[in-house]
Amino acid sequence: MMNSEQQIQLQRYALLGWPVKHSVSPEMQCAAFQACGIRASYELISVEPVHLEETVSRLREQSYCGWNVTVPHKEKVLNFLDRVDEDAVASGSVNTILNKNGRLHGFSTDGYGMAAALSESFGVRVRNGKFAFIGAGGAARAVSVYFARHGAAEIMFVNRTLEKAEKIASRIETEARNCRVQCFSRDNKDSIRACFLEADAIIQATSLGLHQDDVLPVAPELLPGGVPVMDMIYRPTPLLGAAQSKGCPTADGRSMLLHQGARSFELWTKRQAPVEIMRKALEQALKDRN
Ligand code: NDP
Repeated sequence: MMNSEQQIQLQRYALLGWPVKHSVSPEMQCAAFQACGIRASYELISVEPVHLEETVSRLREQSYCGWNVTVPHKEKVLNFLDRVDEDAVASGSVNTILNKNGRLHGFSTDGYGMAAALSESFGVRVRNGKFAFIGAGGAARAVSVYFARHGAAEIMFVNRTLEKAEKIASRIETEARNCRVQCFSRDNKDSIRACFLEADAIIQATSLGLHQDDVLPVAPELLPGGVPVMDMIYRPTPLLGAAQSKGCPTADGRSMLLHQGARSFELWTKRQAPVEIMRKALEQALKDRN
């Protein structure tokens, strides 16, 4: 005879991406499930873009309770969902899916994660804040649109490809008419310096800095001393080093990663995330990867 613990069905969760093997989400989420007494698994599923739709259908049919979605699927996956949260629609990006009796509900927790990280690291709040984004890829779009919708006063982009920044800017203009938005190419140094100086935080959102020999995404002399700099990359980067030597408070992307994952956990389980336990598991997993 099965005891009551064995009778509790295993809840299945996952991360879909391509590649995904580097991810520390399994350690972070499993630590949270365990701490809350939830019998659950969290798998890494590597999915080529051409197989995304059939994989989403399979997870739905196999009654996975929910899953995260990462690069390169965060935009395309919107096409396969039954319902999408307003912030996710606005940013055109989904990183969390909840399977509610076969109906798939999509959310984006990246903006929430960055907002929590800025508050935790620097005491900076989104409402009425001014934010300078270096980069205008998917992550910058998800976070900046969330910030604009949640009361940011001003958003500025510096990006190698100006048109990509301008595309996000027009999305923000539609979504949040009260938010001022500006875009600069990297050679517009005087304007960038002036915007950085006014910002409550500078957010590095390019993929530069993943490798120690990467060039800096902006000239270090443009960084004003004293303005907080947050890098989305999960470890210390050359830009953060340059910012520290100018006297800027700095933080890397671990805190954003933690809080976006904590929010996913809460959407799936309707329980408060054990954030400090998740943080410990995340730190250990990143240490083990190095
Ligand atoms: P995308 O590929 O969508 O965007 C990449 C960005 O980097 C673009 O702005 C691109 O500029 C810029 N870029 C790339 N190479 C260069 C280069 N050689 N010179 C100048 N600019 C360059 O990536 P994402 O937006 O999805 O991710 C960006 C970073 O954020 C990644 O490092 C990712 O790991 C991190 N991230 C962290 C999260 C966290 O929880 N901490 C969550 C999500 C992402 P251009 O437009 O000109 O091509």
